[in-house]
Amino acid sequence: MIIAIDGPSGAGKSTVAKAVARELGFSCLDTGAMYRAVAWRASEDGISFEDDAALGELARTYDIDFKHEEGDPLPRRVLIGGVDVTDAIRTAEIDRAVSPVSAAPSVRAALVDQQRRIGRAGDYVVEGRDIGTTVFPEAEVKVFLTASAEERAHRRVRQNVDRGVGSIDYDEVLADIRRRDDYDSSRATSPLRPADDAVQLDSTGHYIEEIIREIVSLACAKGAAPESEDAQ
Ligand code: C5P
Repeated sequence: MIIAIDGPSGAGKSTVAKAVARELGFSCLDTGAMYRAVAWRASEDGISFEDDAALGELARTYDIDFKHEEGDPLPRRVLIGGVDVTDAIRTAEIDRAVSPVSAAPSVRAALVDQQRRIGRAGDYVVEGRDIGTTVFPEAEVKVFLTASAEERAHRRVRQNVDRGVGSIDYDEVLADIRRRDDYDSSRATSPLRPADDAVQLDSTGHYIEEIIREIVSLACAKGAAPESEDAQ
């Protein structure tokens, strides 16, 4: 089964995707991390973010892998070409680079292929921008998760404080979130938009737990079985 969770930056997709995966015994795939990894490699190699052909070549050449830490069932470490970039892809520089890189059609084609290959290998919660519309239009459960830009900026600042990477300046984070919302929604290839059959959930002012319950019950209605009794 595929559970697609799409939505703008900072809506809580990662937290929700991991919790839903844990409750259902699914794996999860963070497609944003894949675009970030390509943006990181491109900036290391000095490739222009406008050079579609060179970016596509890079996305096709380097393998992106997700690794588990010991004792953790969910893959949290991200590698590109064997280099662990888990922290390096969360900087303000990569926040800026990732929009133009992810708008490159050749990058999208290469990464969508990889995402389909990974997701078809088992039961997955897949988070991103175009999962329900483009990558897995046949997903059994589709959710479009949003929250106000201000709430998303507050959450992102808290997350950056916890991780010790990325900007912790609220105004800077809010400006970045608004810029990426505009960029992701207006690009020609796979713009950010809810699939026609997606359930739209707004996490502003809601506990993330309520959102997790809602998605678990949508999946159970489609035949998924929670790992433990208290997950229902
Ligand atoms: O989810 P996250 O904020 O880490 O994603 C980083 C960027 O990757 C987004 O701003 C968007 O430009 C791009 N992205 C995308 N399609 C996806 C996932 C992410 O274009 N499926």
